[in-house]
Amino acid sequence: MPDYFTEIDVLRNGDSAGNGMTLRLTDGYGRTIHTVAVPQEGHSHTGPTWAYIFENEGLTLIDPGAEASFDLLRTGMALGGLEVRDIDRVIITHGHADHDGGVARVIEQSGAELWAHDIYQPLLPFDPRDLQMATNSPIKEAMWTTARANGFTPSDSDERQRYMASRRTHHVGHPITHGEQQGMLTYMHAPGHSPDEICAVIGNGAGSDIVFTGDHVLPEISPHPTMKTDYSGEVRRNLPVHYQDPDDSYGLLTYLRSLQRVADLGTEVAILPAHRLYNNHKFNFQTAQRASDLIRFHARRLGRILVTAGPEPQPLEDVTRRTFERRKLEGGNFFAALTEVVAHVELLEDSGDLEVTEELRLRRTGRENYQDLLRTL
Ligand SMILES: [Zn+2]
Ligand SMILES: [Zn+2]
Repeated sequence: MPDYFTEIDVLRNGDSAGNGMTLRLTDGYGRTIHTVAVPQEGHSHTGPTWAYIFENEGLTLIDPGAEASFDLLRTGMALGGLEVRDIDRVIITHGHADHDGGVARVIEQSGAELWAHDIYQPLLPFDPRDLQMATNSPIKEAMWTTARANGFTPSDSDERQRYMASRRTHHVGHPITHGEQQGMLTYMHAPGHSPDEICAVIGNGAGSDIVFTGDHVLPEISPHPTMKTDYSGEVRRNLPVHYQDPDDSYGLLTYLRSLQRVADLGTEVAILPAHRLYNNHKFNFQTAQRASDLIRFHARRLGRILVTAGPEPQPLEDVTRRTFERRKLEGGNFFAALTEVVAHVELLEDSGDLEVTEELRLRRTGRENYQDLLRTL
């Protein structure tokens, strides 16, 4: 295990998944980073969101976490002598409720400026889930048929409606662009899990030391990649001209390219992820090597899906059930597993290795180009 941090002070213990845990991390340069594990709203197997607070041209908070857990964020900060009202800048790694849900509360109490990727504000009026479902490709058709056959229909909970209402009140004071530098931070656009995902890199002049990865790179679990999508006219009108192509922001290939960006930082760079920094009674301090591991994980999954699919055309459901272990296919997990397989099938269609037949089955073409595609990341 890499030991980048010279001191890890536990200011508050949490439960076995880390919920509520509060740490002060100190590195060899004497930099301190305060972090609070903010519980998600409702049950989540992903675990709490790690909010990071540190000095960088003013007191900076990365991801306040879920709105319902605001008090735990506040009391966790207080354990390190930090007050919410003193926050100057809130940085959002991406627009998912477990990251930006608490933004309004923090800004109301601090007057902090909101920083998020350039594409975050234009996408705020739209539901992230709806945005990535908006295509009518044959594989998406197969997906909906399979989902319905398994009793899944998209639901609209009160929790979601509250989050969407809150999102619409967010106002970005500073849109972040790829490569931008600010104090000791350099920002990196890392779309794929979410179109607006950013990573923030702390450097020392000679190189990079730490990267805040949001949900882009996580220990223990592989972040969920988006599927390819299309923008409606309404979305398109909202988006700046250089973000008009959805393939630049969505899909597994986009995600893998963004993983390569983190891997390119080098294997010595410490990652501070938004989830799973602690779980099951142990810490997960890892390096950017994790990004390379995730690329290999998806490469293996692509290979397995290809083997499962051919040569006789197979239903998407069978391919999904043979890709995941049973416990990952139960209940609401099934739809997540299904969309993950679709994201992989889309890449294999693009590489020419797989095709969707008229009967909406998956057929192997006999080619195996995906490995060449992965070499170009
Ligand atoms: Zn996310
Ligand atoms: Zn998350």
